[in-house]
Amino acid sequence: MPMRVTSDFECGNGKNIAEIAPGHWRLDEVGEKAPYCKYFCVRVEGGDAGGMLRLDIYPDPALGDDGRVGMLGHYPAPLWFCEGDLDHWLPVTHRWPGVESYGPDCLSTQVVVPPGGSLYAASNVVFPYSRLVAWAERLAQRGAVVDSLGASFEGRDIPRIHVPATGAHPLTAFVLAGQHPSEQCGPLAACGIAEFLLSAHPEARAIRQEADVWLLPMINVDGNVHGRNGWTMQDINPCTDFTGASDGVAPKAVEDQLLWAWLAGELRPGLYLEFHGYLGTRGFAERPCDGCYVLERPAEVYASPDRLRAYEAVRDTLFWDTTGLTARSRPGILSPDMLPYHLARACGTLVPFYEINHAFASVQGARRKGADLFRALFRTLRAM
Ligand SMILES: [Zn+2]
Repeated sequence: MPMRVTSDFECGNGKNIAEIAPGHWRLDEVGEKAPYCKYFCVRVEGGDAGGMLRLDIYPDPALGDDGRVGMLGHYPAPLWFCEGDLDHWLPVTHRWPGVESYGPDCLSTQVVVPPGGSLYAASNVVFPYSRLVAWAERLAQRGAVVDSLGASFEGRDIPRIHVPATGAHPLTAFVLAGQHPSEQCGPLAACGIAEFLLSAHPEARAIRQEADVWLLPMINVDGNVHGRNGWTMQDINPCTDFTGASDGVAPKAVEDQLLWAWLAGELRPGLYLEFHGYLGTRGFAERPCDGCYVLERPAEVYASPDRLRAYEAVRDTLFWDTTGLTARSRPGILSPDMLPYHLARACGTLVPFYEINHAFASVQGARRKGADLFRALFRTLRAM
């Protein structure tokens, strides 16, 4: 058996894969539209002999120069590898220092695979839908209620987790992640929140007294399975699919229609937390290069002075209790095509929005960031 590089598996991304010299392979990333053209994930099989394998990753040629700039602009950033079942990931240079280079045309890295062995190499930590489903089943045995928001465009269940409050008159809190599939740190952060809440930690028990918590760790499940960067299988960017939602205009994506109808019509959460991911360091200030998004003019969004004051406290929690300003030293803006903008407008919901830099977030790193942010928000709400 010779060495092999493949991408035809859940979360795989890579095309035109070819061996251009012994032990030297190349592939093209599969993008949707710049800048959603940064993600790749391939499986490397060592074959009978095993050994060192060099991998060059090129931008998607179908996206032209926009795609080239869009992909390479995310780098330098560490690439990651996994020797298990897409579970535990390490930066490639932890094992093989100095092997990565970032040229004007492609990225290049190198891994060593034992005879008969295999590993995955990717632009970031990968968290497949099938692992989420298995995780949710385990969580149901620990006190969470697990069901489905409904079926995705391709008919997959969208796992919905409910961690019920233990006290009377709780705040309804909702966590959303996974709109952009390649930002796998987001679903991991949402899962981290659920696991923290079900832990024996005294702060978790205090929050459960106060909060009824619902989570959708992965809204774009089809995109995850197909290894997409950002869009749904209907070719919709779910992050900007909500123009006019609070005035009765339905979103376009099937998943977003289900989500908006449930959130605005039924759940009407008091707190909404959304996770996304960045990639890379270029143009950003300091590590971990995380980001956050806020309402530009909250006084025009919240009808009640009490909700406005609570939102300003939540916003300042992002600034002072997290590393959400390390990317740009200023927040991004929640625009009127985004879900949190309309939820704040329709329901007075508080809408913190956080972006983890997944160049630097491990599996547990992302999970802890989720729990850390959730705890910070409840410290603030308790102090008000
Ligand atoms: Zn995103």
